[in-house]
Amino acid sequence: MPEETIFSKIIRREIPSDIVYQDDLVTAFRDVSPQAPTHVLIVPNHLIPTMADVAADDEPALGRMMSVAARIADEEGIVDDGYRLIVNCGRNAGQEVFHLHMHLLGGRALGPMLRPQV
Ligand code: 5GP
Repeated sequence: MPEETIFSKIIRREIPSDIVYQDDLVTAFRDVSPQAPTHVLIVPNHLIPTMADVAADDEPALGRMMSVAARIADEEGIVDDGYRLIVNCGRNAGQEVFHLHMHLLGGRALGPMLRPQV
């Protein structure tokens, strides 16, 4: 069994967080360290550690994550100017929390997707 992270406690509302959306499949809450005026994390309610662990059974939750991202972006008023969705997977991507999550970032110009290599 994969080990739970702090995100499971947030989903179960055992610790405080700013939840902006929750249903039977997914939860969305504001990032504790926002990198943009809108920075929301959208997560499946059941634990999938990384993209590398995704299975066919997860498709309903993963699809819901996308539609919820679009809905929150609309509610946040960031659709016209645009926004970015990011899923980090593993060490090279800098994944810190091993409960799959999608970052929804917007509210300012986000710049190039990747910093140039140094
Ligand atoms: P990763 O680098 O794994 O893609 O992103 C993890 C994100 O989770 C980071 O942006 C970090 O600020 C956020 N985060 C980590 N711990 C917590 C927490 O306890 N509450 C909330 N709301 N966000 C968290």
